[in-house]
Amino acid sequence: MNARAEALAKMREPFREQAQKSMELYREFGGTAPDDAIETGINALWLQSVTDGSESYKTYLVSPLWRVITQDVLLRDGHMCAACRRDAEVLHHRSYRYEVMAGLDDERLISLCKPCHNYIHFHESKKIPKERWEKRLRDLQKLFIKKDKSANIKKVN
Ligand SMILES: [Zn+2]
Ligand SMILES: [Zn+2]
Repeated sequence: MNARAEALAKMREPFREQAQKSMELYREFGGTAPDDAIETGINALWLQSVTDGSESYKTYLVSPLWRVITQDVLLRDGHMCAACRRDAEVLHHRSYRYEVMAGLDDERLISLCKPCHNYIHFHESKKIPKERWEKRLRDLQKLFIKKDKSANIKKVN
């Protein structure tokens, strides 16, 4: 098992009992489910735990899994901010889907410097709604690298 899979397995494990209990209850009431239903249930519980509320998300951001993902993606991007091309220090999530959070899909993660990342999320200490992050990212790119087509960021779904 690689470092990501190992770290993910450790984080998912505490949700196994809850997923199993839910499934037992479901079957008692005559429900039928595929064999992988418990694994799917664990995924859902884990995803909910790392994306809802700021405390659990903060815990995710200091987890071994996120540390490995950050190292890999910064390396992939040559430690260069996707917006201004200065030194990147942080990753920005363009999606909070299971695959992205679990480290199974890095395509929706980009390296940014702290000022650009703060600009995307905050403005004059006001939190920017998620729907507007993509636009702010594009605005930054236009500002810094409008002539460099190779640095264009693809739209994500
Ligand atoms: Zn930047
Ligand atoms: Zn971000």
